Amino acid sequence: MTELTEDRRMSLASLRERAAEFDAIDPLARCRELFALPDGVIYLDGNSLGACPASVGASLDDVIRRQWAERLIRSWDEGWWETPERVGARIAPLVGAEPGEVVVGDSTSVNIFKLAIAGARMKPGRTRVVVDASTFPTNGYIIESAARLLGLVVTKADPRSLGDVLGDDVAFVMMNHVDYRTGELWDMASLTTMTHDSGALAFWDVCHSVGIYPLEFDSLGVDLAAGCTYKYLNGGPGAPAFLYVRAELQSEFDQPLTGWHGHADPFAMTPEYAPAGGILRGRVGTPPLISMLALDAALDAYDGVSLTAARAKTETLTTLYIDSVDALLDNDVEIITPRNPHHRAGQVSVAHPRAKELVKELSNVGVLADFREPNIVRQGFSPLYISHADAVRAAEALALVLG
Ligand SMILES: *Cc1c(COP(=O)(O)O)cnc(C)c1O
Repeated sequence: MTELTEDRRMSLASLRERAAEFDAIDPLARCRELFALPDGVIYLDGNSLGACPASVGASLDDVIRRQWAERLIRSWDEGWWETPERVGARIAPLVGAEPGEVVVGDSTSVNIFKLAIAGARMKPGRTRVVVDASTFPTNGYIIESAARLLGLVVTKADPRSLGDVLGDDVAFVMMNHVDYRTGELWDMASLTTMTHDSGALAFWDVCHSVGIYPLEFDSLGVDLAAGCTYKYLNGGPGAPAFLYVRAELQSEFDQPLTGWHGHADPFAMTPEYAPAGGILRGRVGTPPLISMLALDAALDAYDGVSLTAARAKTETLTTLYIDSVDALLDNDVEIITPRNPHHRAGQVSVAHPRAKELVKELSNVGVLADFREPNIVRQGFSPLYISHADAVRAAEALALVLG
């Protein structure tokens, strides 16, 4: 370990003071104890796999020992069947939607497919779809395939110049609210308006903002959206994703995976498919109840959480981390996340030629982050269980491993 210079020790002392001041008035500080995090670990990977809420174990114990082992098939009539829409209704307020606009099930990748095909079908005659050029790969792959099925052309666009590629031939614009590599947050309001002005549907992926940002789907007029539940929402590995369809569009929501759970009368077992009304037609087949009920239990951590407070804390956490990196390190790393806090979500990404090794070395000193090609260390700051003191310590750890 290298000694800090006198100047740096002074900076560190003042950073720690600032952290203590923020932590002392943090309305979300109480949430930390809801999570079963190991001692000595600063968990900066909640943007990839959220931490485990401590209550999930007991809830799953009930799901397995009582609901499954004792109640057996009867559990389907004792709440299991409605779980996708019931859990969807719990996510609705987190995205600024009404309960009947969100349903949980399948993965984000599968939901992107359902929404892409259904979105294109809502705009017959339009021959192009637009995807942000820096999209998380799965969204790009799936939309390419959806476009190929329907004979549409995919245009990749930089969100900064979306206006240049829009036209009256575009069916929908699918954008990631947050750039998964740099952490840049796009302005959903202005991009949605611009998309609507061209007559296209606004289709958002909110995997990296749901749970840390007060999303406003209804008031912004977002048409279609999907997001993960195992990132900031802490639903557990592979927890089912959600999809949103604006209420006014649901009667036209003609999604391609016409499974029996999306049928108007599943147990009539009719030979023809007839879609259920409303968001229920977003369902496909038998959901993974154990995962879905783990998510249901995990969402308790959001009870009473103000997303405005979560957003404010994410801004102060990431600002303090960036200030600490600036103060404690020479220019050994490049911060590639926007420095304006309004233009970033919950993560700070730093570029370094040895990024892959740095992630391992950070892990050895108790800071869990992740690596993304080609040279990026990503660190996510969940406002529910990361403190400002942790943010300063994480920067100290980076200084330490960079020697
Ligand atoms: C994490 C993430 C996914 C993951 O999709 P899965 O189907 O759950 O594997 C998709 N899109 C974005 C933007 C993501 O951040």
